[in-house]
Amino acid sequence: GKRILNIKSILKKNWLLLATIAAVITGIVTGFLVREYAGLTSLGKYYFGFPGELLMRMLKMIILPLIVSSIITGVATLDSGVSKKIGTRTIIYYFTTTITAVLLGIVLVMAIQPGVSQSADSIGRHGNLPQITTIDAMFDLLRNAFPENLIQASFQQYKSKRIEIKPVINSTAGSTNETKASDYKVIGMYSLGLNVLGIIVFCLVFGIVIGQMGEKGKIIFDFFEALNEATMRIVQIIMCYMPIGILFLIAAKVIQVDNWEIFRRLGLYMATVLIGLAIHGAIILPTVYFIVVRKNPFIFIVGMAEALLTSVMISSSSATLPVTFRCAEEKNKIDKRITRFVLPVGATINMDGTALYEAVAAIFIAQLNDYPLDAGQIVTISVTATAASVGAAGVPQAGMVTMVIVLTAVGLPANDVTLIIAVDWLLDRFRTMVNVLGDSFGAGIVEKLSGKELQQGDVQSGMNIVNPF
Ligand code: ASP
Repeated sequence: GKRILNIKSILKKNWLLLATIAAVITGIVTGFLVREYAGLTSLGKYYFGFPGELLMRMLKMIILPLIVSSIITGVATLDSGVSKKIGTRTIIYYFTTTITAVLLGIVLVMAIQPGVSQSADSIGRHGNLPQITTIDAMFDLLRNAFPENLIQASFQQYKSKRIEIKPVINSTAGSTNETKASDYKVIGMYSLGLNVLGIIVFCLVFGIVIGQMGEKGKIIFDFFEALNEATMRIVQIIMCYMPIGILFLIAAKVIQVDNWEIFRRLGLYMATVLIGLAIHGAIILPTVYFIVVRKNPFIFIVGMAEALLTSVMISSSSATLPVTFRCAEEKNKIDKRITRFVLPVGATINMDGTALYEAVAAIFIAQLNDYPLDAGQIVTISVTATAASVGAAGVPQAGMVTMVIVLTAVGLPANDVTLIIAVDWLLDRFRTMVNVLGDSFGAGIVEKLSGKELQQGDVQSGMNIVNPF
């Protein structure tokens, strides 16, 4: 009797996770069945994924209030002296783990040499990318950090740098793609419809200022606290729909893939990226966590399972954020004052998986081109891959767009991004998972390091009133 009870409570606590896994499996099976037997037209294929599209819309919809309310309350809750310390720790963690990921990627790609044995000439590269220089990209990063209009930053699509990339590889392999429109992939840096970085920068400053205003700031704080609570409730409602959405997302993907041949060609490159991601996510990050926190990192990972699965399904750390919050706070019991700050900021700027991928992809392209890299260029790749991962928004395939920063920095043709497009949708999923895992471990580690401050700051009742005047 007792065992059954146990199973029951496990089912009850983890129903969402189990439903998600079931949805993934059902989605793959359904995808293959429909692909083989249903004979859908291209329009039919598109509509088949519609329930999945609805899920993505819901998750994206909730991001703005979620980021704004969590960061403002998160920062304001910590008194200014403390938040400076916690902020510094967070940034140090982000930076060191990202650099580690880049170096790991470089070592692996130099050792495995996925690009060297392959002949570059079999792969066409006549895409028509607008040229973006490194300087442009860097300036853009700063421009985005300081939007000239906050309201606009919250709804306007980012127009000037929308990039259209044609997957040339698909067409050389003689795919029979009926729809002309699908030959083009339009990737906007801000396909979320927001400038997340700009909003984050503003909310960080706003939160700090409110925290220092004392009684006067309390009313604004209370407002955002209530907003945060309400947002999380909406998230719970969305979560109930999630398994259905995921089932259709994955099924539609299986139906749409029209060229398996390319996977063989780029297999070694993919293996390099995936091995790197696995080492970083399953060995390096857990080790750091264990050294600092002295708890079992794999139990922590299991706690994050729902978020990790979600990120693989939707390849967006920002859109996964609602789930990441839930797992970190409810399963892994991380202090809300930490998660509210570390997670949303991390989802935007801390991308270990993306950084690793950028370094591997850049060197892979150099190898394909027989382009020797000297030590200085390797250093340049490390630095720019880090910057490119910071600059990438947490949306699907943003990392591929910021690749141009890395490529142009070492003199490789930016157009060569087209070489890796065909497999990017898959790699994107796994690097996003490592991105989310990095943020989550970060929350656990920063919490542990900040134990003293969290205890001292008597903040249960809301915010810590510190009046600097
Ligand atoms: N999709 C990734 C993320 O959301 C970013 C990337 O393209 O690397 O974290």
